[in-house]
Amino acid sequence: MIPGPIEFAPEVMEKMGQPTISLLAPAFIESFGRCLEMMREVWQSSTGQPFIVAGSGTLAMDMAGANLVEAGDNVLVVSSGYFGERYAELLKRYGANVTLLKAEIGNVVPLEKVENELAKGGFKLMTFTHVDTSTGVLVEPKPMAELALKYNVLSILDGVCSVAGEEIKQDEWGIDVVITASQKAVGVPPGLALMVASQKAMAAWKNRKSPVSNYYSDWGNWLSIMQTHEARGISYFGTPPVNLIQALEVSLELILKEGLENRFARHQKLAASFRENLSGLNLKFVTENEAVRANTLSTFYFPEGVNGPDFLKRVGDNGVVIAGGLLTEIKTQYFRVGHMGIVNEEHIERTANAIEKALS
Ligand code: PMP
Repeated sequence: MIPGPIEFAPEVMEKMGQPTISLLAPAFIESFGRCLEMMREVWQSSTGQPFIVAGSGTLAMDMAGANLVEAGDNVLVVSSGYFGERYAELLKRYGANVTLLKAEIGNVVPLEKVENELAKGGFKLMTFTHVDTSTGVLVEPKPMAELALKYNVLSILDGVCSVAGEEIKQDEWGIDVVITASQKAVGVPPGLALMVASQKAMAAWKNRKSPVSNYYSDWGNWLSIMQTHEARGISYFGTPPVNLIQALEVSLELILKEGLENRFARHQKLAASFRENLSGLNLKFVTENEAVRANTLSTFYFPEGVNGPDFLKRVGDNGVVIAGGLLTEIKTQYFRVGHMGIVNEEHIERTANAIEKALS
């Protein structure tokens, strides 16, 4: 019950364990092509360009940044935790002039503040985190995307802790790049960096004045690979993670079979149920404001007098693995519980019981 890697469906694990076939095998090319098609459905972007690359979520962040930023570009990073701050550091490596708007711990940056900053003008790009896994804060993407459109700024949504768990309508909301990684709500073991880039983002990349300074991340090396596989053809740039991509096909099928609306509703229900189960303990939320609580994880301060490592160990002794803190300022003061993917009501109850027992 940590916020990634999560528990994976047995069908997904079974696929992972199959003998690795050739990257040129027709069956693999079919899987790769299917994955790209299904990503468009899950991201709700029929017009965007999907990318599947071996790497973690940080590579997905890196790839979006490397392709869209040129030295001297002004970028607005709207941060609601650890991963927003990481994005600011990452983009500086590509020569961006980064303006970092940091939320108060456990909250979002108010929209007015974002708008005030954008209204100053000159920004090429804005990044924001859908669910920051360090704080459990959920940012509503739609109004943020509206601001990006209003001020003609490209937008990158870090959806590592949200894609396939929280609602995202990439085309309808007009978000330029939505990135994620395999190990969270997408439901595949760690190792895949995933993203869908809008045609506007692809045009911005094509119109760059300088070459992309990161060889592995350069869309120029990957675009034809994605296009060829979607057309069920053979092409090679770097050896694809065959088993992970086949497992992704299985997981995306499961996600679409459940139905996106059902899946988002189930995550909402489980999040509410988990918090309800714990309500008798009067734990203090890191996300004090109910309106900004994610459905994919919950974050609580340790009660006063409770030693964090001891508590986590006792929860573990009761058969449930949860996570400690991550955000530097409060790292030792809180814990995080993931509830995404194949999680069900029984897991929720067992987790709440383990927490209660450990505390008592
Ligand atoms: N962004 C968010 C919101 C995340 O939760 C994470 C991982 N926890 C990352 C980015 C980075 O992903 P990875 O650890 O796979 O590099």
